[in-house]
Amino acid sequence: HPDNAKHNLLTVMAFGVLADVETGYPLLLSELTLTTAIRTAAASVAAAKVLARPDSQKMALIGNGCQSDFQAIAFHHLLGINEIRCFDVDPTASEKLKANLAGYPGLNIIICDSAAEATQGVDIITTVTADKKYATIITPDMVETGVHINGVGGDCPGKTEIAKEVLLDANIYVEYEPQTRIEGDIQQLPSNHPVFDLWKVLAEKIVGRESDEQVTVFDSVGFALEDFSALSYVHQLTKEYNEGVTIDLI
Ligand code: NAD
Repeated sequence: HPDNAKHNLLTVMAFGVLADVETGYPLLLSELTLTTAIRTAAASVAAAKVLARPDSQKMALIGNGCQSDFQAIAFHHLLGINEIRCFDVDPTASEKLKANLAGYPGLNIIICDSAAEATQGVDIITTVTADKKYATIITPDMVETGVHINGVGGDCPGKTEIAKEVLLDANIYVEYEPQTRIEGDIQQLPSNHPVFDLWKVLAEKIVGRESDEQVTVFDSVGFALEDFSALSYVHQLTKEYNEGVTIDLI
């Protein structure tokens, strides 16, 4: 909900419910806003682990709002990214991100004046902007040989970030093809344009990156199985740490 920011509300807002399949009884009513940020960053890194070049160290981070902190921390901790080149149309967002990440001394944050400047010399480009329109944030001139693009913000009909020409020249990986065709950046491509299932790469049924020269794209949209997995994990944690309160909904 990109317009939410105008009313001082969060762009991404969610809550989650788990119920027992056998009986229909409610098991868990949970926040899902923070959890979404964590699961989205986790999915991005899971994809980058098999799609980005193994020696990746530098990442461009375009769009420096709520999700960006989580993307930065996950890529730093789990993939060894130690330089992040940031850009946001709102410079205060980049400043805030930099201040939030000050506690990570091994992570060098560089604020850039444009997306083109941010993408110079990087191994990975993460786009996580929010604008409800066909935006073109990443154009072919910004895509160097062998880059992995983690496209997070193009996630509903009419909302994209990556130029069609960039997609046409890349190997594209998706969470769930029927949904991504409608919601992802590939909504710009013909419906028969080849894409690969990320799960098949993770399960080692197909190979991911095949050379250092290839350009790869994870066209992330976020799908229900990720939320279900995250909620199931939250449910497990409530039991493990004896957290939460019992409410009578019935
Ligand atoms: P946010 O509103 O907090 O931040 C978005 C930022 O993008 C803002 O700072 C805004 O100034 C910036 N921006 C807008 N247009 C830009 C442009 N052209 N260039 C550079 N920066 C630009 O939103 P958020 O919670 O960080 O979410 C970001 C995006 O991620 C949203 O589009 C959201 O729908 C998407 N999202 C995707 C998934 C997924 O699983 N794929 C999950 C969560 C959120």
